[in-house]
Amino acid sequence: NKQVILRDTVSGFPKESDMLVTTGSTELKLPEGSSSGAVLVKNLYLSCDPYMRGRMTKRHPGDSYVNSFNPGSPLTGYGVAKVLESGDPKFKQGDFVWGITGWEEYSVITATEALFKIHNTDVPLSYYTGILGMPGITAYAGFYEVCSPKKGETVYVSAASGAVGQLVGQFAKLLGCYVVGSAGSKEKVDLLKNKFGFDEAFNYKEEPNLVAALKRYFPEGIDIYFENVGGKMLDAVLLNMRIHGRIAVCGMISQYNLEQPEGVHNLTSVISKQLRMEGFVAPSYYHLYGKFLEMVVPAINEGKITYVEDVVEGLESAPAALVGLFAGRNVGKQVVVVSRE
Ligand code: NDP
Repeated sequence: NKQVILRDTVSGFPKESDMLVTTGSTELKLPEGSSSGAVLVKNLYLSCDPYMRGRMTKRHPGDSYVNSFNPGSPLTGYGVAKVLESGDPKFKQGDFVWGITGWEEYSVITATEALFKIHNTDVPLSYYTGILGMPGITAYAGFYEVCSPKKGETVYVSAASGAVGQLVGQFAKLLGCYVVGSAGSKEKVDLLKNKFGFDEAFNYKEEPNLVAALKRYFPEGIDIYFENVGGKMLDAVLLNMRIHGRIAVCGMISQYNLEQPEGVHNLTSVISKQLRMEGFVAPSYYHLYGKFLEMVVPAINEGKITYVEDVVEGLESAPAALVGLFAGRNVGKQVVVVSRE
């Protein structure tokens, strides 16, 4: 059973060498036979997600809503898998599922409450790591539930070409908002404008003054900021928000590898502009998953929503793919193919 093992806890930027791809000897049997509640799965697609960086750090219980990885053990994370054997009546042999699985070829999953059965297989199965999985619900809940958006409002999305951002921008366009996104390369900026239909897009790495750049795209100010990066970007946004604006704090990837997080200097704008700033995590909105699918699956099939993935082949490619998120190497949702069937 080939596995991706975390060698040791990580500080600073993660490196490929923090992980080891090796053949493990984990027992691939369901505990206590067929009524164990566990499932044996074959992993097909694994999701590289920025939150996994936090799990590489040694933390104390209660520090975060997700546990740290165990050094010496395979990483775990979101993925798509096929059920080979089931001790849980909710799943049967041959079912496809998405949820928390191991970074390995085969896994015994005991926490089956974190698994969703896949019913729509007329879309690519890898989509359940992205648009139809955790990042998809993040975009949906973050935009519709947290941002309280209205037609005609101005929306700014950072890390806009990624797994979550590309979808937030498309939701905002479908609602009739004016949408601007930022990303870290020309290729990504082109995608935002030409593929995802953002009204405007810019490369934040080429802007010497982010406050001025945002002023250029939002002369009347920003109603909604979908926050994915934090740090200097958040500071620049705070100075460009409109009265009664909303900031959905989804992530702050620019801070995850810093020993000491950067300070945010312009928080007094929250008072003077009467802003609402709200953090959220996807699992708190999983009860909306059915409603979310009812909207998004037809939109995909009718071509109203599109999705870009960055797909690499094989568990050997997984460490580089995961680390690449923090250098912006991924163009779209970063997926690792373990097996296509
Ligand atoms: P992406 O697919 O967007 O990949 C990460 C991207 O972040 C990179 O491609 C890069 O794009 C950008 N990035 C990396 N480092 C920096 C930096 N220092 N400054 C600015 N941008 C940077 O990831 P996701 O869409 O999966 O995640 C986006 C955000 O949403 C993350 O902050 C993540 O933690 C958060 N998230 C939160 C969830 C929740 O439940 N609250 C759930 C899922 C994601 P570029 O080239 O544009 O720099």
